[in-house]
Amino acid sequence: MKSILDVEFLLAPRLPPRVLVYRMRTGLLRHEMERALRDLFEQEGRELYPCRPSMVGLASGGQALFDGVYLCDLSRETEQDLTPVVKALRDRETSYLAVFAPHGSRLFADKTWLGADGILLVEEPIVTSDDIPDAVWQFVVANCDLLPTATPVPKIVKERFTDQLGGGRLALPSLVQAFDAYVAQSFDQRSKEFVETTEQQEEVKERSLLADPLLDYLADPTLRDRANVLRGVDLRVRRGRSYESLIDDLHQLSANIALKICSGRAVSVDRFDFVLWIALLVAWTPSLRSVATEGHDGAIHPNEFLQIVDQLLRDFATRQTSDGRDRLAGVWDRIGDVSRAPRDDDQDELGLEQCLVELLGRQGTYEPEWVVRLRAIFCLDETQLLAASPTPSGSGHDEGRFSARLFDEIVGRDAAVAAVKERFGAARHTPLFIYGPDGVGKKTFARAYARAFMCTGRAEADYLSCGRCGVCMAFDNGVLGYVELDGAAHGSSLDSVRGWLRDMKYFRAFAERNAVILENPERAGGLIDTLLKTLEERHKATLFIACGREINSLRATGVSRSEVHRFARLSNADAESLVARFCSHYGQRLLPGPVLDLVLEKGGGLPRRLAEACANVCGGTVITAEDAGKVLGFGWIGGVIATWTSLLGATWTEPSTLISDHEGASLGVADQMRATLTHIAPGNVGREPALPSWRRHSRALTHLADEMAKRAASTGQSYDSLWGRLSAFWCLDHVDLVGQRQAFMETRRILRGNTQWAA
Ligand SMILES: [Zn+2]
Repeated sequence: MKSILDVEFLLAPRLPPRVLVYRMRTGLLRHEMERALRDLFEQEGRELYPCRPSMVGLASGGQALFDGVYLCDLSRETEQDLTPVVKALRDRETSYLAVFAPHGSRLFADKTWLGADGILLVEEPIVTSDDIPDAVWQFVVANCDLLPTATPVPKIVKERFTDQLGGGRLALPSLVQAFDAYVAQSFDQRSKEFVETTEQQEEVKERSLLADPLLDYLADPTLRDRANVLRGVDLRVRRGRSYESLIDDLHQLSANIALKICSGRAVSVDRFDFVLWIALLVAWTPSLRSVATEGHDGAIHPNEFLQIVDQLLRDFATRQTSDGRDRLAGVWDRIGDVSRAPRDDDQDELGLEQCLVELLGRQGTYEPEWVVRLRAIFCLDETQLLAASPTPSGSGHDEGRFSARLFDEIVGRDAAVAAVKERFGAARHTPLFIYGPDGVGKKTFARAYARAFMCTGRAEADYLSCGRCGVCMAFDNGVLGYVELDGAAHGSSLDSVRGWLRDMKYFRAFAERNAVILENPERAGGLIDTLLKTLEERHKATLFIACGREINSLRATGVSRSEVHRFARLSNADAESLVARFCSHYGQRLLPGPVLDLVLEKGGGLPRRLAEACANVCGGTVITAEDAGKVLGFGWIGGVIATWTSLLGATWTEPSTLISDHEGASLGVADQMRATLTHIAPGNVGREPALPSWRRHSRALTHLADEMAKRAASTGQSYDSLWGRLSAFWCLDHVDLVGQRQAFMETRRILRGNTQWAA
């Protein structure tokens, strides 16, 4: 009887004799064996039939079975039933038979099986680790995912690997696993070579887990690398590393990179970016340590450490892009504290702060102010410290400064808030679609929802976030598992969508809940389909909110089951209460009535515009409605009325400044001129203007109407017909095109009684 190893059979598959018996131990290669046999017989034009217990009856009749190739898998619980079939088939000269049997099968107790000629016995190997058969070795190498295909594996690698196994017998799966582990620590994915010393191996292992993604992230902070860094940290936690040692790892890795930079070796990270990273790591380390020590009594959420690392990484990404500004705004205090803390002499030789000193020791020709200041702090050079005065932080990140964070701060969305309250009560968070004009507060609402949804400190049915847990504290800087997507930015590229989804899967391992806010859904294309399919798998733990401008964009989302809310412009009463809240942030309790009216007009029922208007009015020294009109951009109204008045005068000289230069004008010349005409239309003369911004000018408007009446009388026309001619002219489409000067000349002609523009 012939016998062969399964790996040998698979490396060079050949049509077996009439009967093949596969004796399995772990069954690792069962499917490969079955596939190989199927292929071999198919090439011969024969099909592989599985043996079934129902064949037993046929088998007893012998002749009732048709000729063919039979596969009897005895590893299932069918051994008892199939034995008669197997026996019958073995004795049928006209059929092929393959039997897959576990090692301990009773089949092998029957010596007539194993001793018989014409039977091929295929064995799953047990390998003694100091003598791995070539076929097995080839198989293990070929099946290692960590090795690029066709990587040459030197003989010495096999020797070292078997040395490391340290004797003993192994089944194939353990061998495959052991080799994977060996490759992970001794194959350098960068140089595509095996490394030799244990130190090198250690380095490769560390790098592949944490340092590589970290270096990639520092060079270009992508979502994927961020996820990979977190995975690296997470893996170490799972392998039983303490949080303290992880902090040391982060420090050590960063110090290693710093060393490379200092010694002039090529590193893909920009020097200032890296200084920024170290400074941030220094600033964040106290937070990391506090979590690490609290962690010992188990009182801390296990994700908290990862959350903080994640925030640190985000912080870096945000600051890294803020060119020209103080990149360390807001953390100078923390950095100062760290630099003043007593040094521990027992610390590693190359602590992070020393790295910073090293890095900063090399003064460049051009250095941003924050680098100079950092050097002053860490290099303890007092003259530099004096020279480097703190720079005020930029005025960016102001958007949403006063945005509502909790549902009970949201104004004028009672129906939507009630609906969300119900959702929390029922713990049911199906997709939500909000639509309405820009600036109406869709995203603020969505964020408040996501914040409450992800909060870990509230009672399950509570719809208000707790304000104390890690998620609440960090939400404004971004938390794990919360993503804001812009269909306009992400939807166009399917690759970026796929990449994002992959990252999302990584993050899921860490974050208990996910929230996705999607803006511009109508431009997201295939993103939404893919997104929803993925999210649906775990939709209980994932909140999906789309914010669109129009109800039509809902169709683009294909979210037919989503709950829809329309956000209209706020009523005046709601807008007023919002204004009161915004202004109280500036320490201003009440706006004078006329100023408030102007703010409300400017805001147009949109929270975002209202917030801007409040910032303009409350920020400076606005006392009167006139001041308010100016800072809110209504200054042009007075200007355009004056222009009309001068046009109506007896003599007219071309103005030296163009009308479009009127302060804060948001309208074009023709629109401004038309708007004025509307206010002195025959039916409107003597009436109070509807808009507060014009109301202040009612006296000037009355005066203008008087002048117009005089002008009409002096040219023998009625007020109505003169006004009609003027408005007919100014409503012509091409007025904007002929230019301001030409249009004014024409206006003068009409005022002189020229009837060319008669209505
Ligand atoms: Zn909370």
